[in-house]
Amino acid sequence: MADYKYVIVGAGLSGLTLAERIANELDEKVLVIEKRNHIAGNVYDFYQDGLLIQKYGPHIYHTKEKKVHDYLSQFTEWIDYEHRVLSNVDGKLVPMPICIDTLNQLYGLDLDEDSMRDWIDDHKEDIDEVKSSEDVVLKNAGRDIYEKLFKNYTEKQWGTSAANLSPSVISRIPFRFNHDTRYFDDPYQGMPKEGFTKMCENMIKSDNIHVGLKSDYKDYIHKINYEKLIYTGPIDYFYDYKYGELLYRCLNFVYEILDEDSYQEVGVVNYPNHPYFTRITEFKKLTMQDVEGKTAIMKEYPGFNGEKCYPYPTQEYLDKFKLYEAEMEKEEDVIFAGRLARYKYYNMDLVVKDALEIFENEIR
Ligand code: FAD
Ligand code: UDP
Repeated sequence: MADYKYVIVGAGLSGLTLAERIANELDEKVLVIEKRNHIAGNVYDFYQDGLLIQKYGPHIYHTKEKKVHDYLSQFTEWIDYEHRVLSNVDGKLVPMPICIDTLNQLYGLDLDEDSMRDWIDDHKEDIDEVKSSEDVVLKNAGRDIYEKLFKNYTEKQWGTSAANLSPSVISRIPFRFNHDTRYFDDPYQGMPKEGFTKMCENMIKSDNIHVGLKSDYKDYIHKINYEKLIYTGPIDYFYDYKYGELLYRCLNFVYEILDEDSYQEVGVVNYPNHPYFTRITEFKKLTMQDVEGKTAIMKEYPGFNGEKCYPYPTQEYLDKFKLYEAEMEKEEDVIFAGRLARYKYYNMDLVVKDALEIFENEIR
């Protein structure tokens, strides 16, 4: 007789989505084991001095998936927020991603859509086969844009040149021939009204769900009777590094509270050419909180120590992951979900979409 039919490792969005579905749809008992001292994984936020701060960097909700939006909207109301980012370059603050206004402000031009196309035609490089993230920018916008806005940011973020990174990394950023200065153009975007942690708490209200914090699953799993394990932690750790360690790019998040009403014009300002940090977030500008005389800002310092944030998008590690993937496919009583276990650069919405599909196809 199992104590729990399901044990889930990791209380991030993937683990909690699966816990919610199993508890509420199947009416089965679920134990969630989380090694941190809080739920919500990387979307965790908390209040300090009345300010909502995102511990693991700026998280903005956006999706094209109605199914995901309908699902999460059961657990939160949304603040209408459209994310805008400025990039600090050549002493100016220019819109990111690249659009007509970026070129006009950066080069003192007066382009419209047609003349932006001409400008790009004059500057872009002819590249037949796009093999790297560097190629993506050179082909779309040319070398000067690459050097000013992408080269150093990417090198700092990943610890290697964009020439060594899969095209998928920089392809996350669109190039636009219009005046749309939003970071995302998804139909659903916003911020959870009371924060992501509150949204996550609302997901796991069922009495069927028990959460054990501050616990590495390997210290406890042998003491629990269960039928299925759902694993959302790093995949190399699960297999005791039998094919060696997978590389995850890490970030160190450093925040401070300032005695000022406002620090910067928008929620996120990128600093492509600063030697150490990539960007500064001012949380009030994302959460639209009305707090006077104080504001919280965060700088992000990339490295190979700190919070494991990103699977490393070079061929070497994608190949190494395939060795683990072959093992994962053989498991009958373990289901793998989420960014760390699947070793995929997923946004929140895709993590939730995947978890919903896993529930429908593999669990229900
Ligand atoms: P996680 O949130 O990492 O959860 C996994 C959990 O497993 C963690 O809590 C971890 O502590 C726990 N765990 C690991 N190992 C063990 C173990 N051995 N025992 C017990 N527990 C364990 N997405 C967006 O949509 N919009 C954004 O703006 C955005 N911004 C981002 C900014 C940054 C800096 C980063 C890093 C990511 C961003 N994302 C964004 C992506 C988003 O954070 C992820 O898609 C999502 O949080 C992944 O959820 P998850 O459950 O897969 O993983
Ligand atoms: N990037 C860049 N300059 C910028 C913003 C992004 O070179 O001002 C590159 C960088 O390599 C980054 C990638 O584009 O990793 C994707 O950016 P995105 O904002 O999607 O990354 P996230 O912070 O969401 O992981």
